[in-house]
Amino acid sequence: MAHTWKRLGIMGGTFDPIHYGHLVAAEGARHAFQLEKVIFIPAGRPPHKTGRKISDPHHRWIMTELAVASNPYFDTSTIEVDRPGYSYTIDTVREVRSLYPGAEIFFITGADAVLEILNWKNVNELLEMCWFVAATRPGYPLGNLKRRLAGIDPEHVKRIIPMEVPALAISSTEIRARVQEGRPIKYLLPEPVEAYILNRGLYK
Ligand code: ATP
Ligand code: MG
Repeated sequence: MAHTWKRLGIMGGTFDPIHYGHLVAAEGARHAFQLEKVIFIPAGRPPHKTGRKISDPHHRWIMTELAVASNPYFDTSTIEVDRPGYSYTIDTVREVRSLYPGAEIFFITGADAVLEILNWKNVNELLEMCWFVAATRPGYPLGNLKRRLAGIDPEHVKRIIPMEVPALAISSTEIRARVQEGRPIKYLLPEPVEAYILNRGLYK
């Protein structure tokens, strides 16, 4: 591998579709932690989203590509969509570590996701391998994070860093509902992503 990134961000998500909430969190983390690259990794099969039908990984990856194209620090990866079975963050972080040996890894999440971290597979090992950046998100106060993490080794808790970002009350769920109901999604996500959704008839 030609790349020798020292400080690498990972932005994980279902990205069904990607929107400005994801992008603002990733850019905030890039700046705050001087990340040389942030890799957006669409989930293949998220274990916690078994209830509804998730769009084809190919569509989700293309939308992610379209969204990051204008930021030279952002990139995408298909490592999760290419991996069979459920997508676990632990497997992704292990794979990124082997692709970029020596890089310090910052896994970027929103407040809702980090509050669920105790349910994640191999959480202790995960917190030994990377930092977690917890971006603020409207509706998910980070105030009770400390209490929520009471069962975790304090050394591991230190690996979770809260980060204030501009509050955007945008979710993919809301965007899908808007498309379904014929309401506008303009200004909630990048225009090329909006065009892709409309052209392909996604979320109808
Ligand atoms: P869905 O409604 O389908 O769950 P979502 O908008 O929550 O979609 P995800 O793909 O589930 O998007 O989220 C990926 C990551 O981005 C998660 O860590 C989530 O917390 C974070 N995130 C999503 N939206 C925002 C937002 N508006 N502000 C901050 N973080 C966000
Ligand atoms: Mg979500």
